[in-house]
Amino acid sequence: MYIVFLGAPGAGKGTQAVVVAQELKLAHIATGDLFRQAQAEGTELGLQAKSYMEKGMLVPDEITIKMVLERLSAPDYGNGVILDGFPRNLDQAKALDKAFLEQGKTINKVVYIKVDEGELLDRLSGRWICRNCQTPYHATVNPPKVEGKCDRCGGELYQRPDDTAETVKERLKVYFSQTAPLIDYYTRGGKLWEVDGKGELADVAKRIVAAIKEDNA
Ligand code: AMP
Repeated sequence: MYIVFLGAPGAGKGTQAVVVAQELKLAHIATGDLFRQAQAEGTELGLQAKSYMEKGMLVPDEITIKMVLERLSAPDYGNGVILDGFPRNLDQAKALDKAFLEQGKTINKVVYIKVDEGELLDRLSGRWICRNCQTPYHATVNPPKVEGKCDRCGGELYQRPDDTAETVKERLKVYFSQTAPLIDYYTRGGKLWEVDGKGELADVAKRIVAAIKEDNA
């Protein structure tokens, strides 16, 4: 099963992907996490991605697509994969379709997590991430049990450098111009399931799991 999580920055894709992947025993591939990890390790990929991420821009397609397809080529993902943060524009979506067609795979569902634009800014400004395992928290909506520490692994929490007001504005602009057209693309392909991303974390997770389990029409 291949599931794509689609939504604006701050819609809760990463938070929900962690919860839903655990519940449905799916692997979780998050392109933003892969880039941040590469940067922390000081690899060539990390260096290539850094300047784009700092500005809130998309990392060029040739770098991103190659990285994702390599990850997806692992022989056995068991129950399947949640793709979180990819594809993020039409060319990436088409590259994924093409690769899957060649490999006899298919995207089963695209879960579009919808949150009002006004709420996105608030969510991003209160966001804290675990430096070790990347689990996201929110200062008020989803705080860690111990301030500054990750509930899952005890790692240190930090605020992402691209969650500053100016970069967030750019990321939202990029989302609306480049990523939002994918809603139409996947609707036309009969793959899109819209889920209300507002409310308690656990309630949103339930809605997403229900959407994934629902029979394809
Ligand atoms: P995220 O953690 O998903 O918010 O991603 C953080 C940053 O990583 C984005 O602002 C982009 O610079 C980069 N990034 C993540 N996913 C992609 C993608 N599919 N295509 C291009 N850039 C990406």
